[in-house]
Amino acid sequence: MNNVQKEKSTMEMADTYMFTTYGRFPVVLVRGEGCRVWDENGKEYLDFVGGIAVCALGHSSPVVTQALDEQSRRLVHVSNLYYTRPQVDLARLLVENSFADRVFFCNSGAEANEAALKLARRYANENFGPNRHVILSMTNSFHGRTMATLSATGQDKIRAGYDPLLSGFRFVPFNDVPALEQAIDETVCAVMLEPIQGEGGVICPDADYLKRVRTLCNERRLLLIFDEVQVGMGRTGRLFAHEHFGVTPDIMTLAKALGNGLPIGAMLATESLGPVFGPGSHATTFGGTPLVTAVSRAVLSSLLNDGWIDHAANAGAYFKEQLEGLRRKYDFVKEVRGLGLILGMELDRPCAPVVTACLEQGFLVNCAQEKVLRFVPPLIVQDAEIDQLTAALGRIFEKMKD
Ligand SMILES: *Cc1c(COP(=O)(O)O)cnc(C)c1O
Repeated sequence: MNNVQKEKSTMEMADTYMFTTYGRFPVVLVRGEGCRVWDENGKEYLDFVGGIAVCALGHSSPVVTQALDEQSRRLVHVSNLYYTRPQVDLARLLVENSFADRVFFCNSGAEANEAALKLARRYANENFGPNRHVILSMTNSFHGRTMATLSATGQDKIRAGYDPLLSGFRFVPFNDVPALEQAIDETVCAVMLEPIQGEGGVICPDADYLKRVRTLCNERRLLLIFDEVQVGMGRTGRLFAHEHFGVTPDIMTLAKALGNGLPIGAMLATESLGPVFGPGSHATTFGGTPLVTAVSRAVLSSLLNDGWIDHAANAGAYFKEQLEGLRRKYDFVKEVRGLGLILGMELDRPCAPVVTACLEQGFLVNCAQEKVLRFVPPLIVQDAEIDQLTAALGRIFEKMKD
């Protein structure tokens, strides 16, 4: 008899040693390349989750590997008490390719939104007094899991159990200009929204919605904050999603694909907000280390110079067409929506069984909201890979017919 205790599996150990905050899929992933990942048994998957809209250049991208290797040998971290070149280069690249004039680096989407909320509050406080501090955000929105970003998130199931959340947040329905207009009073300092709601189920703005929000903000002297954490960095076929709609915000937040998997967030704003965040007003230990910004600089350069943003537009249009084909064929598919390579497919039923069937067939997809399949693959995805997924979905849907 072997009296050595059998080593626990990775999945058993996760349940033993970690909080069970995630309802994980029963796979242990060990390797990735391009749009493919492999599990510990050697099974291959085509990845249409992309680390939740993070791995824009795919897995094991040589762009990332090279920047990581070079910078890790040179300088990893020194704190923001000192200047470092990769950070400044990345800030300059972001400014030169956006509406913005100033950048603050942090480590995540939630932190970028925290910075945006703090900046808006402080600006309003300095210019209009402390009474003007309310942030209007949208029902069905998602802005993060910290207390402030949770307070700005318009989904009860995510907020449940954390009361009292921060005061000074109110919600209005997305795509509803009259409701927004009605909600604005002398206490409101900013409007915060995702140009396309990602976690909310890939909800796109109506044609003139963002323009009308911008106009309202101008008239009432409110700051407009766009959370582009999920939809920014080329995913929609433009570097930033708001470019499709002919408007610019005062503040924008980025994270997810900004580091292709290294933790980095950024809060960008116009020059008029520069003085509000002066020395000592906000800070972070890790935000914008030479290591992550060197990688992010390389990722952004590749997105801009190697044609990936146009590729995302074309691949996304092709993908959407294929999904529309499925919608026409299966009446339990209610709607296909999205822009570029953030696409949602709404079913008339929970989509978890579809996600499970996809996993069995070697495809990573997930749901945003119970009935919406969301596809956010690496931007480098090829039409042939899209064909493989849509063929699998066709097989799965065929079985669901009866
Ligand atoms: C993912 C996401 C966040 C939160 O980002 P974290 O890095 O998980 O903190 C915020 N806003 C939007 C729109 C997101 O999709």
